[in-house]
Amino acid sequence: MDINLNKQVAIVTGSSSGIGKGIAISLAKSGAIVIVNHSSEHSRPEAEETLKTIEENGGEGLIIQCDVSKEDQVLAMFQTTIDKYGTVDILINNAGLQQDASFVEMTLAQWQKVIDVNLTGQFLCSREAIKEFLKRGMTEKSKALGKIINISSVHETIPWAGHANYASSKGALRMLMQTLAQEYGKQKIRVNNICPGAIQTPINKSAWDNQKSLDALMTLIPYDRIGQPEDIGNLAVFLASDYSDYITGASIYVDGGMTTLESFADNG
Ligand code: NAD
Repeated sequence: MDINLNKQVAIVTGSSSGIGKGIAISLAKSGAIVIVNHSSEHSRPEAEETLKTIEENGGEGLIIQCDVSKEDQVLAMFQTTIDKYGTVDILINNAGLQQDASFVEMTLAQWQKVIDVNLTGQFLCSREAIKEFLKRGMTEKSKALGKIINISSVHETIPWAGHANYASSKGALRMLMQTLAQEYGKQKIRVNNICPGAIQTPINKSAWDNQKSLDALMTLIPYDRIGQPEDIGNLAVFLASDYSDYITGASIYVDGGMTTLESFADNG
């Protein structure tokens, strides 16, 4: 399938590393102009790496620093994008983090931080994207008025002990996605979730950086390999394109079969 996103403008939050970086590169290779978002001065060099790879592959992009949990910074990121490129066509809500603790030891700060970035960030960016889609109107570039793709997780459905804040943020993201798909379907805005299983990135380094952890991880993955950012990037390109024009309100799992719950393979 040869997908050409035809210079549609895509904001990819948290694309200085991991899955977001993979998606940014995949979208740019398919012809999108990509806003490489990163959260702080600290992540600037990594954002530059992402943009460098985009440009080396003949793509175009712009780095914008913005903490997605801060309303003023999100408004500024959208304004800068619109001032430079005229509009936004695709939003990839990827930025996310974990702050793990057993439930009784979880501080309010740990709870709040994860909800702020993983859920409020998606709310703020989606709201600004939808406002812009509605204001801009239809273009020749896509059958849809705009596309929003959230990077959720298998943990939007699989409970995760020791990660109540994270699992709650992803479960809520499913409802946010479905509600927006319902609310703006008539206006031809498509909203979907990609639900990764285990993808090899810094967020879950302890699960793959030694053989013992990797062996334990493989007991959860029928397809017997850890995922790579480009596994997610490939689906993001498809969901951003008109090939997926009838897909909205969906959660699509990219997990090597993790949601089949491999522990039940031997009779449970
Ligand atoms: P990562 O740590 O490599 O990337 C997270 C990105 O989010 C980083 O670029 C970070 O700078 C950015 N970020 C964090 N806080 C931010 C903020 N306030 N504003 C803007 N950006 C911010 O991890 P990753 O694995 O690439 O995670 C990306 C997304 O994928 C997350 O939403 C995560 O929950 C989800 N996910 C990852 C996996 C996995 O196995 N790696 C599985 C399921 C879901």
